[in-house]
Amino acid sequence: MRILGIETSCDETAASVVALDDAGTPQILSNVVYSQIDDHAAFGGVVPEIAARAHVEALDGIVATALAEAGTVLGDIDGVAATAGPGLIGGLIVGLMTAKAVAAAAGKPLIPVNHLEGHALTARLTDGLEFPYLLLLVSGGHTQIILVRGVGDYERWASTIDDALGEAFDKTAKLLGLPYPGGPNVEKQALAGDPSRFAFPRPLRGEARLDFSFSGLKTAVRQAATAIAPLSRQDVCDICAAFQLAVTETLVERVGRSLARFRGEFPTIGEPALVVAGGVAANKAIRTALEELCAGRSMRLVAPPLALCTDNAAMIAWAGIERIRARMTATDAMTFTPRSRWPLDEDAAPLIGSGK
Ligand code: ATP
Ligand code: MG
Ligand code: FE
Repeated sequence: MRILGIETSCDETAASVVALDDAGTPQILSNVVYSQIDDHAAFGGVVPEIAARAHVEALDGIVATALAEAGTVLGDIDGVAATAGPGLIGGLIVGLMTAKAVAAAAGKPLIPVNHLEGHALTARLTDGLEFPYLLLLVSGGHTQIILVRGVGDYERWASTIDDALGEAFDKTAKLLGLPYPGGPNVEKQALAGDPSRFAFPRPLRGEARLDFSFSGLKTAVRQAATAIAPLSRQDVCDICAAFQLAVTETLVERVGRSLARFRGEFPTIGEPALVVAGGVAANKAIRTALEELCAGRSMRLVAPPLALCTDNAAMIAWAGIERIRARMTATDAMTFTPRSRWPLDEDAAPLIGSGK
């Protein structure tokens, strides 16, 4: 089976061909990602209108490249999987409508995919991970802890009540005059900083729920920066280090409690797995802290290669394959409309597929 995947939910225009052989072994035949970072950098963040136009311009060529790099033609594809939400509506429309046209022209089935399901199932593509496992998704648009029980079977244990973690990194960077995207720049400055100079808050600490909140932290960073402005290079480094320490400790505490809950719910699983996904997973301080946490709990940390952790179309093609294998593809796919908001656990299964 060969599936063409298309991803356009945010600021990456991506297409990929993933194959599954008869033994059930997947292979990524191509994975083409065009990042629009340069188009948005001048604005300090993703501009939806610019993103949608850039997707229109790039997508046809990216799909052609993905097919060519996979050494395949449309006639040999068994289906087209496309991100149908959640995300920026303009980009979603471009991707899903293109996928519909390609599927109709090739006479192949269309599989609308929830972008978050793509992130959730990637560890099965890269590491052949068995269900159930715990997913920590930390990206520019999402901060969630999700129990992944099976295809289409997800339970959200935590989400952010305000900013996403990547967004918090980006806003902190902007505030300190660091270039977009902020995450990698904050991380770089933090290396030369003293985290003990500022006592930034650990939001929602001590509360029973597992949710995240980062807007208070952002305010604390702004107040600290305003109080000592103009900022020296060392000031910027110290603020970055204190910010990064605050979010790392918050993550470790929330994920630690989630791991305990997972063990309680699945006591017979020998070595439970925690999967990290999303652009923030690139952060070495966060990654190291999670590695130490898992090692101390006899749990396995699965961190797919970064190119598959951030937005890409291979994960969408793979989610399509998983849906086909589980006989959970939509019967009304060609009339499916993109959804800017589409929580993974609320209605992913009822809307896509009747397999449950
Ligand atoms: P979505 O939320 O829909 O997946 P996205 O495009 O915003 O979309 P990603 O592409 O997965 O998300 O990740 C981008 C985010 O990751 C940005 O907010 C960026 O600042 C953050 N990021 C990237 N590298 C690092 C890093 N080294 N440290 C911290 N954050 C990082
Ligand atoms: Mg992105
Ligand atoms: Fe994403």
